[in-house]
Amino acid sequence: MGTYMHSDFRSQYRDANVRKKTSGSLQRYERACKTLAGGVSSGLRRAARPYPLFFDHGHGSQIVDVDGNAYLDYTLAWGPLILGHSPEQLQGALTSQVAKGLTFGAQHDLEYEVSEKLVAAIPCADRVCYANSGTEIVQVALRLARAITGRPRFLKFEGHYHGWDDSVLVSYHPGPQQLESQTGPVPGGIGQLESRAIIAQWNDRDSVERAFAEHGAEISAIICEPMLCNSGCISPVPGFLEFLRKVTESHGALLIFDEVITGFRLGLGGAQEFYRVTPDLATYAKAVGAGTPVSVLAGKWEYMKWIAEGSVVHAGTLNGNPLCLAAANAALEYLAANGGAVYESLHRRGQRLRDGVRKILTAAGHEVTVTGEGPAFGVHFVGHPLRNYRDTLHIDKAKYADFSLAMLDEGVLLLPDGRWYTSTAHTDDDVDRTLAAVEQATA
Ligand code: PLP
Repeated sequence: MGTYMHSDFRSQYRDANVRKKTSGSLQRYERACKTLAGGVSSGLRRAARPYPLFFDHGHGSQIVDVDGNAYLDYTLAWGPLILGHSPEQLQGALTSQVAKGLTFGAQHDLEYEVSEKLVAAIPCADRVCYANSGTEIVQVALRLARAITGRPRFLKFEGHYHGWDDSVLVSYHPGPQQLESQTGPVPGGIGQLESRAIIAQWNDRDSVERAFAEHGAEISAIICEPMLCNSGCISPVPGFLEFLRKVTESHGALLIFDEVITGFRLGLGGAQEFYRVTPDLATYAKAVGAGTPVSVLAGKWEYMKWIAEGSVVHAGTLNGNPLCLAAANAALEYLAANGGAVYESLHRRGQRLRDGVRKILTAAGHEVTVTGEGPAFGVHFVGHPLRNYRDTLHIDKAKYADFSLAMLDEGVLLLPDGRWYTSTAHTDDDVDRTLAAVEQATA
């Protein structure tokens, strides 16, 4: 709240417009703040401008707020809605499961029906197991890696996000001063236990080799987002994932792809299929449930047998609950139809959108770098390519905040960090309307 210094994209005019038409959201936000800590259910949602909006319903590519404003949605609930909002493909499966039972805490048919689909789709999967969130399932993967290797630590990359557990919420978005003053992992906030992570730089082989030279005997695994979606949607440079595959093999460590975002988004087989590098373990938690809270660890039998035999503990009251698995089952069936043909149009439309956005912004005189792929890409006000988190520190984030406010006023909902997600529900007409909105925002 308050006034803004930046005049790009006529931000004061846009701010006034958006406030005028979203007064119902502001009222609700103020009411929620009185009983709900921060007025939101996840800390990151507080960053929204001019204040967090309240939504009433969504259908396909559109979401509608409590004041009746409809937006073309490229946030997709921070990624899960690969089929768009309230997809028809899932409605029947969910309502019939509601009538049959919400959860059993015991075995049912959907568990193996979904695991069969997952094993068929994911290159590294001989077996899978379920949990409820990405944060949880990453912890299962890291515990498994420690058990298998007998080593206590893991390597993660600066800027990569693997959930909010103390062990992994380090060196995620450290500020320039923290980077100068702190050596070792930088905690995301106070109150965190010390992490055993070893930090390296994305797309930088030397930093990985140095880490293994110094700590090789302690490193159980490398974990990474195979496309760095949480810091700029930065793709791996050619050969980098192959290098990670080799270096882990030669040091007896595991390679874990955190596919919470890329899974069932870059393709049916996720990033490992898209980049043709197969990790030992992979984690999933967004598109796999198409909007329901389910997460998955997939891995080779030689590793997953430790969970199968029970020596590595994996538990959870709501794991594999039938409601989420009914959604996952219907979503996976839709996505896998005709050999995953739907991904071709997902990439093609996303590509047209990202090219169009870049062209319009560039023609309007802005320095823009676009990263990522059609189904998940980043738009950044910066004049050089991005290789890793440190490069993202040069992005003009205040300018992007002004741009996304102007887009909101034009009826397009964007995430605050430059990330755009597309769904199978977005149409060519949606792309045209979005590009027209970008024209208006830059006018
Ligand atoms: N890993 C990645 C790559 C993520 O993007 C996220 C969440 O955004 C997580 C893990 C944590 O997942 P969750 O928010 O479901 O705990």
